[in-house]
Amino acid sequence: MLTPQSVIAVIGSGTMGAGIAQVAAQAGHPVKIYDIQHGAASRAIDNIATVLSARMAKGKLSESDKNATVSRLHAANSLNDLADAALVIEAAAEQIDIKQAIFRDLAAVCSAQTIFASNTSSISITAIASGVEHPQRVAGMHFFNPAPVMKLVEVVSGLETAPAVLESLITLALRWGKQPVRCHSTPGFIVNRVARPFYSEAWRALEENIAPAGVIDAALRDCGGFPMGPLALTDLIGQDVNFAVTCSVFNGFWQERRFLPSLIQQELVLGKRLGKKTGQGVYRWPLNEALPYLPAEPATAGAKKIYCHGRAAWLNNHSTSDSVTESSLELDDVWVQVTQGETATQLAKRLQRPVVLLDLVNDWQRSPLVVLAAAANNRPEDTAKVIHFFQQQGKQVLMINDYPGMLVWRTVAMLANEATDAAQKGVASEQDIDTAMRLGVNYPHGPLAWGAELGWQHVLRLLENLQQHYGEERYRPTSLLRQRTLLETQHEH
Ligand code: NAD
Repeated sequence: MLTPQSVIAVIGSGTMGAGIAQVAAQAGHPVKIYDIQHGAASRAIDNIATVLSARMAKGKLSESDKNATVSRLHAANSLNDLADAALVIEAAAEQIDIKQAIFRDLAAVCSAQTIFASNTSSISITAIASGVEHPQRVAGMHFFNPAPVMKLVEVVSGLETAPAVLESLITLALRWGKQPVRCHSTPGFIVNRVARPFYSEAWRALEENIAPAGVIDAALRDCGGFPMGPLALTDLIGQDVNFAVTCSVFNGFWQERRFLPSLIQQELVLGKRLGKKTGQGVYRWPLNEALPYLPAEPATAGAKKIYCHGRAAWLNNHSTSDSVTESSLELDDVWVQVTQGETATQLAKRLQRPVVLLDLVNDWQRSPLVVLAAAANNRPEDTAKVIHFFQQQGKQVLMINDYPGMLVWRTVAMLANEATDAAQKGVASEQDIDTAMRLGVNYPHGPLAWGAELGWQHVLRLLENLQQHYGEERYRPTSLLRQRTLLETQHEH
């Protein structure tokens, strides 16, 4: 049983260890921090005190609370000082031999009841536990960076982990004001697995010269509703860190092709263009983005006849993404619709008329941006009618090369597909998968809720079109996704 008085030990006083120690001390626990580097734990405590003083200066923390928190933090000189810990949270280097050695040594020092939790992002909890005495007390407790701010904690079970240990960690995380989710020890756990397509689809678009990085990011951010574009986010995370996670998930799944790392990203890592921390990654930092918004089309460019199929949503500019997804427009003889996974050129050939496709928009009313792709054989004046139409609605317009599934829709479909894969394989409950993606990486919706809202049949159609276009396993829809579409059909009848 972990109580508010239980001693918490934290191993490693780097970015994560210091953050976790702060969380535990703020929750009232005596906290002992041990770091192999002499003096590092004391320095971490000094840093936490500085962070708390800054919060105090802003009026967010009282002086007595700050002093009480700092007084609960103690630097330990050796693992032997941690004998009275009820819970050890290990946040040392991401190497299995280091983590195993720490817990093996601690097993000789702590009681058999002491819970051992690792903050590993990628190493199997089962592997860490093997060789540790009483492996049933070993679990994962995966915090997100910065630990004092991010709500999510993935509580990870290995093969041997006792259910009571998991329950204790869940209860504790809740008491610490966190939102715990349960998952099994599989590569990437929930967040680092389900999030892979967010990055990989952006790298692919860059590799296929579909649009400059800034346009790809703007689409995901301003149309998709993600807090930041994927490429800028990799610059912030660090190209080395993000690439290492991708490689680890790719290898963890026996080199499953849909997790294939990007050659462009590998080049950045090899060239030490690691992102914000080195001043250059995908972008030069500080970021100074000038997007190639299309200039205003003159009134003479506008269509003479406008006809809207569906719920007439686009004309009065208040609509959910769902109704926009389903409607289409005719601007004179130009056909306009949200992509369904075919290219504009394919659709133009099928319909025998000019076509402009538009990318998925999460919130039509709030999105300042529309991303368009024109069929290769459109006349410029055909495409101009569509640009003019959206500019008249107060939208900025960006143009990308003709690309199946465009940028946002294919990313959302792939995230939803990956989430169904994790759910189907029992990595976590559907609810926990959605919670993890909303709180761990701040997605605007959980991918399963998003898939349902957009309509699983639409997600399936998009993926099947992508799969056919590329002939690649990468876009194969999961069985669970297919089943969801069948249930949706039944529901409609
Ligand atoms: P970091 O490099 O900032 O800190 C690691 C600390 O561990 C260093 O101070 C180092 O001296 C110490 N250390 C190394 N070996 C040790 C040992 N044998 N005994 C005691 N201390 C030791 O690393 P970090 O970013 O804080 O990551 C720590 C762990 O948390 C890793 O497993 C990482 O994968 C995981 N993680 C990191 C993040 C993140 O965003 N940084 C997020 C979630 C999980």
